[in-house]
Amino acid sequence: MHIPVTMDDGTVEVFTGYRVQHSISRGPGKGGIRYAPDVSLDEVRALASWMTWKCAVVNIPFGGAKGGVICDPKNMSQGELERLTRRYTASLIEFLGPEKDVPAPDMNTNEQTMAWIMDTYSMHMGQTVTSVVTGKPVSLGGSRGRREATGRGVATVTDQALKFLNMNASETTVIVQGFGNVGMHSARLLWERGYKVIGIGEYDGALYNADGIDIGELVEWKTRRGTIHGFAGAGPFDKDELLTQPVDVLIPAATENVITSRNAERLQCRILVEGANGPTTAIADEILADKGVFVVPDILANAGGVTTSYFEWVQDRMGYFWAEDDVNQRLERVMIESFDAVLQYAVQHNVNNRLAAYMLAIDRVAFTTKQRGIYA
Ligand code: NAD
Repeated sequence: MHIPVTMDDGTVEVFTGYRVQHSISRGPGKGGIRYAPDVSLDEVRALASWMTWKCAVVNIPFGGAKGGVICDPKNMSQGELERLTRRYTASLIEFLGPEKDVPAPDMNTNEQTMAWIMDTYSMHMGQTVTSVVTGKPVSLGGSRGRREATGRGVATVTDQALKFLNMNASETTVIVQGFGNVGMHSARLLWERGYKVIGIGEYDGALYNADGIDIGELVEWKTRRGTIHGFAGAGPFDKDELLTQPVDVLIPAATENVITSRNAERLQCRILVEGANGPTTAIADEILADKGVFVVPDILANAGGVTTSYFEWVQDRMGYFWAEDDVNQRLERVMIESFDAVLQYAVQHNVNNRLAAYMLAIDRVAFTTKQRGIYA
């Protein structure tokens, strides 16, 4: 779609945006909206299909969708972003809705963006409809526990992997790449559960301490200073070398394509938990399989976010909001059940965990598609 926006200087700029609904077989489309200069239709299509499989793996009643607008949000004012968001939403008004397609934040969109979408949609409907988007502020129908949900899911599947491999948290070392939403909460929750977090990587450098890093203090440091650098509880380290250090659990939680044919052979982790979307390339994946690394694939490992989005949608529709403990317990249950289902597929079909996760997801989507039949 083409989205005309009056910029602050009075000129009109026309942006290009997309929304792709990949599957609505199991329920309404679900997926984030990203604002970035390199958004393309193909990327949005790929991300939409990813959402279909992710929602199916954790067995929540959503299909897959994704949206994006080609723009440079870092060079836009709040007013410009608001007008862009509202016009994009208005263009999509027939296609969005709690029973049709439910967006969420993604790269460069946030709680405020979701509040604007909710308000624009509500204005068109003539009533407040909070369940049209998830990832809203808690004061506007958001869910408690959503912010840390992806990290909590990562921590839960890591616990399950340890159980499966007969390992102990207190004797397990962890390296996390990325100290943003997913990486920070994953690292903090694992540290609280007794894991020894020895390395943290960021885009501009890393920290390493073989004796373990006090993640509670590091979170405070980053919150106050906006960076992990200069923290006294660990030494500076090369960010690329960090991934290939000896460690039990490696958690890429930053961005895609960081484990590639160039470094996969040198990885020394026993378990790889993919907090980010698509951190491992296809070739690297084969190398890891040959090395016998136990992989918890992204569509399972980081599905805690969309699962709590589902809880947000449920709470909005009920108009009754759960305590944080309730949200966390329900999330934990979904992640454990999904981990077990994927492992069962892997054993039953003698395939690796990633293939098992896709087989499980495709089976679930295919099953409902067949069950619904063809309307003729
Ligand atoms: P974020 O922007 O909050 O954090 C990303 C962090 O990674 C930042 O601290 C950044 O400095 C760091 N980083 C970026 N590039 C890096 C690089 N090349 N090397 C090392 N560090 C780098 O983003 P997020 O929400 O934490 O998302 C991280 C990943 O998890 C993305 O792939 C995202 O798609 C995925 N994901 C996020 C959620 C969620 O709920 N936030 C859910 C599912 C998947």
